Amino acid sequence: MKITAIRGFRDILPDESGLWQVLTSQARASFSTYGFSEIILPLLEKTELFARAIGETTDIVEKEMYTFTDRDDSSLTLRPEGTASVIRAYIEHSLHQKEPVSKLFYIGPMFRRERPQKGRYRQFHQIGAEILGRDDALIDAELLLMLNDFFTALRLDVSIDVNSLGCATCRPRYRERLRTFGESKFAALCENCHGRLQRNPLRILDCKEEGCRHATIDAPILADFLCDPCRQHFGQVQTLLHNERVKITVNPRLVRGLDYYCRTSFEVLALGLGSQNAVCGGGRYDGLVEQMGGPAIPGIGFAIGVERLAMLLQAQERQNAEAPDMFIAPMGEVAENQAFAVARRLRQDGYRIELESGRRSLKAQMRRADKLAVPYVLILGENEITAGKGTVRDMQTKTDRSLAVDLSASAQDMMKAIRASDV
Ligand code: AMP
Repeated sequence: MKITAIRGFRDILPDESGLWQVLTSQARASFSTYGFSEIILPLLEKTELFARAIGETTDIVEKEMYTFTDRDDSSLTLRPEGTASVIRAYIEHSLHQKEPVSKLFYIGPMFRRERPQKGRYRQFHQIGAEILGRDDALIDAELLLMLNDFFTALRLDVSIDVNSLGCATCRPRYRERLRTFGESKFAALCENCHGRLQRNPLRILDCKEEGCRHATIDAPILADFLCDPCRQHFGQVQTLLHNERVKITVNPRLVRGLDYYCRTSFEVLALGLGSQNAVCGGGRYDGLVEQMGGPAIPGIGFAIGVERLAMLLQAQERQNAEAPDMFIAPMGEVAENQAFAVARRLRQDGYRIELESGRRSLKAQMRRADKLAVPYVLILGENEITAGKGTVRDMQTKTDRSLAVDLSASAQDMMKAIRASDV
């Protein structure tokens, strides 16, 4: 019988491995500008490391780890994530005594026995980064800036969702309030959420079941319970990013499973990846180093999924090879001048724009746009444009939507607004 690879384990063939090279090189380049150094960690660790760092009652530790007994009867596990090993190494080598702040990144395979599907594998790869030794808002903003720089350099359209999970002072009060709320909706919640209500009520907010989503739509939100220092911290993170024109979305339903997660938490979602659209998750974990037997040193970090990133880049490359990102159809001379400026702005940022002459009829222009298979056409009419407006036509659904044409916006924001027409 033919021997094949194990279910959920993939070969990365040459037609894909080139892309991996591109994105790991970009990670190294982006991270080094922020002062990060690489840490290369073992694939196997003692099982108790993950039980302690990730938590005995999590899905990962309860049912997803590849654990086996070695010949000397010790229990070993193929690492399901990188943070636990970084912290073990940090404590083991007393890195805190050598430098006040450690900025470390890692790249490599992780193993989780999940149900395989597109974008979800049993061996997958992560690019992760951790900062140990600082707990101020500036460093949280810096980490998010670095992520943003990385995705921008790859020209990927992503949305950065951020939330504050509060701290040991303010979160317990919220947790109890949410538990009471959850109990009042008990019948509408799934079985999993019944368990979560006992163990960690915050998790009912990120349940994917339709019934639970509906039942928790008016759940109390953590933002209303934050203590003053947490509120200030979160406000400062947002201001710093806003000043740097980094767009973030505050998502009050974004939670993380474990107790030691606190304050800034985030997730990067790809536009156009289907259900496996999370490309990166991360957050602050101030109690973890201490919990692992080290000094009380705060930390924050993230992990990016390489397979999903590669899928995104492939989809984007396919699109690039096939069609321009947008077609601009101006009507008349005034609109033509405006179209000229919009096209210039978008092309400077690498978007492929087809610009038509304003002297041709709209019908002729649309025929050409159809032929080029562009996803969107920006129609700039003479009257509209003097009011600072245009119309976006989604060429797949053939629906029109009015759009404010703002030349002071960044090319990325402009493109986001145009693509938002299909949501
Ligand atoms: P986590 O360590 O669970 O916070 O995941 C961080 C990122 O790793 C996610 O946003 C995904 O992009 C990626 N990831 C997690 N689990 C898998 C998996 N089983 N297969 C592929 N990518 C994964």
